[in-house]
Amino acid sequence: MRRNITPEGLWQQMGIVSPDDVDIEVMAYFCGARVKYRELTSCAARIVGKGSKAIITVDRTASIERQRFSIAHELGHWAQDRGQVSASCRSKDLAPFKLKDYQDDREAAANRFAVELLMPAQLFMKAAQGMAVTMASASYLARQFRVSLTAASIRLVELGSFPAIVVCSNLQGYRWSWRHPELPLSVRVNRLISRHSVAHSLITNAGLASPGPVTVDAEEWVSHPGVEEYVVVEDSVRIGRGTVLSLIWWEDETSLVKLE
Ligand SMILES: [Zn+2]
Repeated sequence: MRRNITPEGLWQQMGIVSPDDVDIEVMAYFCGARVKYRELTSCAARIVGKGSKAIITVDRTASIERQRFSIAHELGHWAQDRGQVSASCRSKDLAPFKLKDYQDDREAAANRFAVELLMPAQLFMKAAQGMAVTMASASYLARQFRVSLTAASIRLVELGSFPAIVVCSNLQGYRWSWRHPELPLSVRVNRLISRHSVAHSLITNAGLASPGPVTVDAEEWVSHPGVEEYVVVEDSVRIGRGTVLSLIWWEDETSLVKLE
C-alpha cells in the first residue's frame, strides 16, 4: 500500500483532532519511519530510507521543539522521496521561515511540510482567531502546538486575523521576515533596523528586558508612500545573542486600506 503522505492526510488517517494528540514519533512510525536520538556533529538531522521503511536521526542535544521540527522536516523528505531517500540536513536548512524562495527547493518543501504537520492551518486559524499579534499570543500558541516561538510567530502572521509582519534582525540589520498574505505588496520592510525601534535597543543593550508591545512610527519598520502618517505596534524579544524577533502589527488597518 503506497499512499501519498500529506500533513492533513496524516492527521485524518490517525484521527488526530487536537495538537495535544500529536506524538510526532508515533506519526513517523505510522509512515514507516523510526526515530533515533544521537549526538550529531556533521548535520542537524537526517533520514535514510528504502522501500517502506526509514530511519530518522535527530540531534539529542537539541531542544524538544527543535527535535519535533526536525522529525517533521525529515518526514517531509520522506513524503517527497518515499521508497528511496537519503538526506542530511544542516541546521541552517531546518528553519520554519525558509518556506519559499530558498536556495534549496527540497529543503523549503520539507520545512513547509513540517510547519503544516505541526500547525495545521484550520486548527491554527481557529486558535489564533482575533488574537492580538503580540509575543504573548505567539508564546501561547507555541505552547499549544509545542513549537518554537519563531515558528508560532510565523504562523500567527501567516494565518492570524490582522495584517502584520514578523522580522528577525541583528546588528547588521534585517535577516528575514514573513508577512500576512493580505498586506499590500507596496509595504516594504526596511533593511536597516531603526535606532528608534525596540529591536535596536534589545540588540545593542544585552541587559535590557523586552518591554512588551509598544507603539512606534510605522516608518521605523516599513517604507511606502504615506508611511510617515501613522503608527504600528512593535513587540520585540531577544531569541539569541544579538538576535531579535519582532512582531509588527497594524492594529489600526485604516492606513493600509488607503494603500489598496
Ligand atoms: Zn532537509
